[in-house]
Amino acid sequence: MTDFSTCTAPGINRLNPYVPGKPIDELERELGLSETIKLASNENPLGPSPLGVEAAARTIAGVNQYPDDSGYRLKARLGEKYGLQPQQLLLGAGSSDVIDMVARTFLSPGSNAVFSRYSFAMYPIYTTAAGAECRVAAAYPPDHESMPYGHDLRAMAKLVDEDTRVVFIANPNNPTGTWLRVGELQRFMQDLPEHVVVVLDEAYTEYVAEEDFPDGVDWLATFPNLVVTRTFSKIYGLAGLRIGYGMASAALIDLIGRVRHPFNVNAPALAAAEAALDDEEFLQQSREVNAAGLVQLGSAFTAMNLAWIPSIGNFLTVHLGRSGAQVYQRLLEKGIIVRPVANYDLPEHIRVTVGTQVENQRFIKALQEVLAA
Ligand SMILES: *Cc1c(COP(=O)(O)O)cnc(C)c1O
Repeated sequence: MTDFSTCTAPGINRLNPYVPGKPIDELERELGLSETIKLASNENPLGPSPLGVEAAARTIAGVNQYPDDSGYRLKARLGEKYGLQPQQLLLGAGSSDVIDMVARTFLSPGSNAVFSRYSFAMYPIYTTAAGAECRVAAAYPPDHESMPYGHDLRAMAKLVDEDTRVVFIANPNNPTGTWLRVGELQRFMQDLPEHVVVVLDEAYTEYVAEEDFPDGVDWLATFPNLVVTRTFSKIYGLAGLRIGYGMASAALIDLIGRVRHPFNVNAPALAAAEAALDDEEFLQQSREVNAAGLVQLGSAFTAMNLAWIPSIGNFLTVHLGRSGAQVYQRLLEKGIIVRPVANYDLPEHIRVTVGTQVENQRFIKALQEVLAA
């Protein structure tokens, strides 16, 4: 029999596929449960933006035709909102598509990408798939005074060499929820060799109220090597439609856009994103529910004597002092899906997405029972 593993492109045999959060349907099928809740994939617990849903629905009758490959209308809206030219925008089937495009544009065997420990799982996947080397910087230690498990930009800068093509930075980071402040990120960008492309992954930025938090858009004019990525999957509640975008200098977007698959973003997604962008009422409500949920979950963990990582995203990662995989399993049996994070080097933590007040309470009660058993 042919051993196809000897025929693969470089990197493929080293590749560990992404493990998504468990879908509700699958859990209900497997355990015969109903009324399960999913707090595993940082989805918006309020559902999708109503304006987005309405706009998407209106496109369905026309899906015999290909979508607008240029994304003209959405790019015009994004350009207006952020003060950018359409040539500075690139649309993706989720922002992970954009991140993959950056990797395929700049990474190949012999080059490397730098990112932090405990950072987003897609970075090593896209880097390895491109045949490049992953350089993983040490993160701040668990007892760090202000940002336990956070990105250590000095450690990351030390790993950059002449073969480095891309640096991935998630701000705030998933799965830790930790963040970088304006000054430290600006210094990092200023000191970085110009040939290195920085992906500043801002998937959760719309949730952030923190002062001294960088807005990557402000820096696009200063740093021609910066790519800022954002998504409609998180606060806009459109994860199932797969749409996100990248913003950068026109020269970078021109290069990255060359590897984009034609028609990578579908028509319902384009329409939904355009409408959701202006759904201020939904966004405001989502921020409020999230802020209240972070307090609710954080204080419950503290009351249970559990250390949690300070987070400004829509999720919290908590230290259980025992196997996160086991607690995850016990919670599944109670109809609650959270995220085990052993694959992120955090075997004694779980990550929980902020849900509605009622969902959070159900989760807290279930966790108390599991830990007491
Ligand atoms: C969720 C997430 C993304 C975006 O995912 P898409 O659905 O592909 O837009 C990107 N980066 C981080 C850090 C995330 O958590």
